[in-house]
Amino acid sequence: MREQEGWLIYTNNDTQDLKPGEYMLMADPPEKPDAAFVRGISQKLRAEVLDRDGSTCQMCGKAAGEIDPDTGRKVRLHLGHIVDKIYGGKDELSNLRALCSTCNQGAKNVTTEKPSAIWLLAQVRRAGLDDQKAVYEWLRTKYGD
Ligand SMILES: [Zn+2]
Repeated sequence: MREQEGWLIYTNNDTQDLKPGEYMLMADPPEKPDAAFVRGISQKLRAEVLDRDGSTCQMCGKAAGEIDPDTGRKVRLHLGHIVDKIYGGKDELSNLRALCSTCNQGAKNVTTEKPSAIWLLAQVRRAGLDDQKAVYEWLRTKYGD
């Protein structure tokens, strides 16, 4: 909750009054737990997008609150830009859609962020032998033996 929703919770790292494993809630829970994900987008607009999209990921069809079979965790929906802001996309209903964490992550990889080595290696490990060999051949051609 500290990391994802911004709850102000102290542990023994923060104060000597607490023993390891003890937690103290230092302030009321934040009113907008998803604020980090909706920077600049009003709660009203967010609600409109989720309502229009039936609280369902517009890429894979998972619904908010379902258990995601890929991650084993509850599906959380984020707002994704259809046209990325760096390409002039706006924070408006027509340019926003509901995306689950997984698809939101994937969309980011496609549009803005380069894939990390960890992510790439995970994909290569998941791939079939022929595809792994194709990757190997491509790397060998590019970088030599
Ligand atoms: Zn999805």
